[in-house]
Amino acid sequence: MLTRLPCAVLWKGAAITNKAVIRFSILGIPVCVEAWFWVSLAFIGGGLSASSSADVINVLLFVFAGFLSILIHELGHALTIRIYGLPSSITLQAFGGFASHPAGRLNRTQSFYVSAAGPIVQFALGLCIIVLSPYLAIPEGSLFVPFSRYLVWVSVVWAIFNCLPVYPMDGGQMLAALMGKKRQHYTHLIGFFFAVVFALVGYSLFGSILLLVFMAFFAWQNWQAFRAITR
Ligand SMILES: [Zn+2]
Repeated sequence: MLTRLPCAVLWKGAAITNKAVIRFSILGIPVCVEAWFWVSLAFIGGGLSASSSADVINVLLFVFAGFLSILIHELGHALTIRIYGLPSSITLQAFGGFASHPAGRLNRTQSFYVSAAGPIVQFALGLCIIVLSPYLAIPEGSLFVPFSRYLVWVSVVWAIFNCLPVYPMDGGQMLAALMGKKRQHYTHLIGFFFAVVFALVGYSLFGSILLLVFMAFFAWQNWQAFRAITR
């Protein structure tokens, strides 16, 4: 049995044929990229409102930046899992991805570090680009300018978003590791509370229906888990 370490939002879209899945290996870790991963990134990148070739190029740059950033995030998890002597694999799917490892083989401390490693390396990537950009001789009008902007945006926003203490995101996984099995119900109660708060804040501040829907889903999931444990 494998434990999944979900990042951002896990959503299994319609069945995807094997032909639409890209598989490769990086640093010895198998990676599987499902078709819905590209579709969801294009959606977040404004693909639905693209009306010119310049818009389409921007969406493609966003998709590639998102792919690179999220892959590095998952590599952070997977390489840490490997440091603890376990095999790992990465799957990128709609609205996120996950790194897998054999279930029940990590202790709480290891589990905490594995969960933290993804957002940390992803945030570090964004920070490196911000720090190094002034020193790179990037020509004005180069495609690298919007690409690096998207790379910073995805890396910083995705990393922070995943640290929210809402199970099963990375922050929720870290909280679960801190709480342990005996206080698992607190993990879900805190997850429920923060999911509701972030849904309301996300919608009222940014008008984000996507955030509202995902957080409402997490709130429901955490509430169900809390009720199941405390019943
Ligand atoms: Zn993660």
